Amino acid sequence: MKIPARLLEEARRRCSPDAECPALLFGREETVLTWSWLRNVLNSPTAFLLDPEEMYRAITDAEASGLELVAIFHTHPGPPAPSPIDIKYMRLWPVAWVISNVYTWETAAWRFKEGRAAPVHLEWI
Ligand SMILES: [Zn+2]
Repeated sequence: MKIPARLLEEARRRCSPDAECPALLFGREETVLTWSWLRNVLNSPTAFLLDPEEMYRAITDAEASGLELVAIFHTHPGPPAPSPIDIKYMRLWPVAWVISNVYTWETAAWRFKEGRAAPVHLEWI
C-alpha cells in the first residue's frame, strides 16, 4: 500500500497522546490519495470510535470524487499493532488498517485475513 508521507507530517502536528487520532484514507486500489481526519468520539488515549454520520459524509464525499475508502488510520500510545478491539472492527471494515505509535511514529499496516490481522507492506510516497 502506498501512502503520502504528508499523512504522517499532518498526524505529528494534530495528534497527541491524549486521544487516539483517527482518519479515513481514500484513493484507488492500493494507493492513498487523500484523507479525512475525524473526531474520536470516545476522546480516549487507548481507544477510538467514529461518528457514523461523519464517517458517512466523508465516504460519500470521497466517492463523489471517484475515490474509495482504502484504509483506516489511527494512532496508538504504543506499538502499531492492532488491539483485540481493532481486530474485531477490522472484520467489519475489511480495508487496510494503518496504525502509528503516537510517540515514535513507527507505523504499520494490517488487513484482516483468514481470521487474523496480517501485515500489509507499506510504502511512503
Ligand atoms: Zn487501535
